[in-house]
Amino acid sequence: RRAAIQMDFGNLNPEQQKAALATEGPLLLLAGAGSGKTTVLIHRIANLIKYGRGADSDEVPAWVTGEDLAFLEDYVANPAPEKKERQEKLCRLEPAAPWSILAITFTNKAAGELKDRLERMLGPEANDVWASTFHSACVRILRRDIDRLGFERSFTIYDTADSERVVKDIVKAFNLDEKTFSARTVLGYLSRAKDAMLSGTDYLEQCEKGGDFRLIKMAKIYVEYERRLKEANALDFDDIILDTVRLLREYEEVRTYYQRKFRYVLIDEYQDTNNLQYLLASTLAGGYENICVVGDDDQSIYRFRGATIENILSFEQQYKGARVIRLEQNYRSTKNILEASNAVIKNNEGRKGKELWTEHDQGEKLQCYTASNEHEEAQYVAAQILAGYSAHRAWKDHAVLYRMNAQSNQLEQAFKRNGIPYRIIGGIRFFDRAEVKDMVAYLSAVNNPGDDLRLARIINNPPRGIGTTTIERAQHIAHTQGLSLWEVVSRPRQWEELSKAAPKLGQFAEMMDELRKLSQEMPLPDFYEELVQRTGYAAMLEQKNTVEDRTRLENVHEVLSSIQSYLDNAVEEPSLAGFLDEIALYTDLDSHDPNEDCVVMMTMHSAKGLEFPVVFVVGVEEGIFPGIRAIGEPEEMEEERRLCYVAMTRAKEKLYMTCASQRMLFGRTNSNRPSRFLGEIPPELVEKSGRLPYGERGEGERPARRTAPVRRTFDHGYSMGTASAAPAAAAGQRAPAGDFKVGDTVQHKAFGGGLITKLTPMGGDALVEIAFDKVGTKKLMLKSAAQYMK
Ligand code: ATP
Ligand code: MG
Repeated sequence: RRAAIQMDFGNLNPEQQKAALATEGPLLLLAGAGSGKTTVLIHRIANLIKYGRGADSDEVPAWVTGEDLAFLEDYVANPAPEKKERQEKLCRLEPAAPWSILAITFTNKAAGELKDRLERMLGPEANDVWASTFHSACVRILRRDIDRLGFERSFTIYDTADSERVVKDIVKAFNLDEKTFSARTVLGYLSRAKDAMLSGTDYLEQCEKGGDFRLIKMAKIYVEYERRLKEANALDFDDIILDTVRLLREYEEVRTYYQRKFRYVLIDEYQDTNNLQYLLASTLAGGYENICVVGDDDQSIYRFRGATIENILSFEQQYKGARVIRLEQNYRSTKNILEASNAVIKNNEGRKGKELWTEHDQGEKLQCYTASNEHEEAQYVAAQILAGYSAHRAWKDHAVLYRMNAQSNQLEQAFKRNGIPYRIIGGIRFFDRAEVKDMVAYLSAVNNPGDDLRLARIINNPPRGIGTTTIERAQHIAHTQGLSLWEVVSRPRQWEELSKAAPKLGQFAEMMDELRKLSQEMPLPDFYEELVQRTGYAAMLEQKNTVEDRTRLENVHEVLSSIQSYLDNAVEEPSLAGFLDEIALYTDLDSHDPNEDCVVMMTMHSAKGLEFPVVFVVGVEEGIFPGIRAIGEPEEMEEERRLCYVAMTRAKEKLYMTCASQRMLFGRTNSNRPSRFLGEIPPELVEKSGRLPYGERGEGERPARRTAPVRRTFDHGYSMGTASAAPAAAAGQRAPAGDFKVGDTVQHKAFGGGLITKLTPMGGDALVEIAFDKVGTKKLMLKSAAQYMK
């Protein structure tokens, strides 16, 4: 029987098979990146559902007798597809019900992928497996029973921005210094207190004993924070775990229910669990103790959030008789990528030490590119991706990883200018936020009365008693009579079917007319503030005054920053229309299809567990990566290095690492040296390019002295198709806009042939719309695009 089952898992290596088939009892799978840990976890679940208990034993169900045994023997020698059904039936000892399996992953994306893969292996019944993050599993548990803890089941979840908002309000109300008690710092303390299972009052008591004035204040904030969240019937991310643990500990009934239900508990990325998550996992698995944890100590990257590697290291002590299985073969990356990653992580002292090997080819060398500034870096990445795309890679084969979300901005702009579709994982783009879209819609409707789409978005937002039916009727009239929506709603009395709504529509039209008048008379920033007030949008948010609404209000005001930066850089006489043009490229109304083929962008932290054929690790500079806080702090430096290991090992075939010698971030320009991590990669594995290649294994050394000041050239001058993309000498000297006009047919290196349908001058550049034969219509910035077009 065992042999017949193993055939099903024949694509796993012997150690992987062992881990997938040993169903009962605690198991620790400890292994490096890309060694198939997650793969094993998935096969383990498949095995549980298909065959159940004891797949690794020779035990055979009692009812399998002579003839069936002979069949199984024959099957092992000669496994034909038509025998499959009988084989599976005979091998089943005690299959696990899908709902009795709890699989915890680190991100929702990973949970989704796990379910997809299971469904492909097993069919729809796989959907009943509880596959989710700790947080989603807890929310599910809480929605059922949280009333026992005095919350309503309909509780709201506060995200980090919401929590920060609450803390800021409290700090203000308490008259405390906003720097000493920054929201981030305070939340850090609260998080640690919660991880130690301390409530507000527990923590206050503890701090009062210690007598530290600042900590006492911190604890008082915690008490108030707790009160406010309770009042709002809200839970933050930490509460979700903490309250679940409380619920399970304090209510035996609830605990027993889940302990009986979850016969098998599996946890991926176990190196990143904190104390609470550890308590949660061991409580949930407390019934059967069939707990399988999977992890890699070299990839522990959440210690700053209280994750503790101790959870992995003490697993064997916690569960006597736990099996430990290690894997050493990497199936993901080329030899070069693997050797480079191994060389970097070797510099960490606090590690158990293990080395991975691969049967894969040497592969291409790593590409390390030094740009002179962040624009050039972004343009380099864009150029390489376009080259990859024209060499028949999909967009989604490319991933761009950065240390901080704020770094995405430049890259986004370069991708927009070049028509590269992209998606940001784990963050909403500023201009994609609903309230920001609303404000842009108002501005557009003021600027252009004929903008029906935008007008429809805002006509009853905030609510003005103009119902959907009225809007639909007006749209219908507009459509059938060839009028714009504005022409209809501003003269409602002309149409019988609008007569009832006429007063409300009239008021709205009057307001819009007034706004149009003001927009002619006032400076743009003043006008914007007037608009926010007069439309009633601010009042709506102020009145609702929930934490989310205050965040929205902040975003509404943040649009002013964009206006200001437009005014600072405007080439022509600034105007509302000019501003809308400027942001047009970033505020496309068409919603974005998440399944579309896209380049993916995310922080290195969110990339954990994922893999891509081509990976760009950007901003590999001292002060960015490793971050400024890690410099001079050995423990934090080791965490940054593990993060580097995680980032590098995401790549299957090609790995790019880029840095810029000058970078503007958060409004400041800094000169940064190339990261020490680059210096830790053996030079023979690397091909360097760019303006100021970093020194030979000279980690942390100053780059070669510059002979000329760095030119802040922007997005010109790269040639396609060359990996090193040396900047052309002609940078900035060409005025490509002059060479193209509407009606021209063009040949773009990545997108093929197309026709220019629209050209809108914008500052020193132009927005060009090209209808491509193969990829449809794209909006590109001419200066960027011109270098790829004939
Ligand atoms: P990470 O530490 O980054 O989370 P991991 O150990 O979970 O990595 P997986 O993601 O499971 O590794 O596997 C890495 C890649 O190797 C995947 O593409 C997977 O399909 C492949 N792989 C795993 N095991 C095998 C095998 N026995 N034969 C062939 N390919 C394999
Ligand atoms: Mg994994």
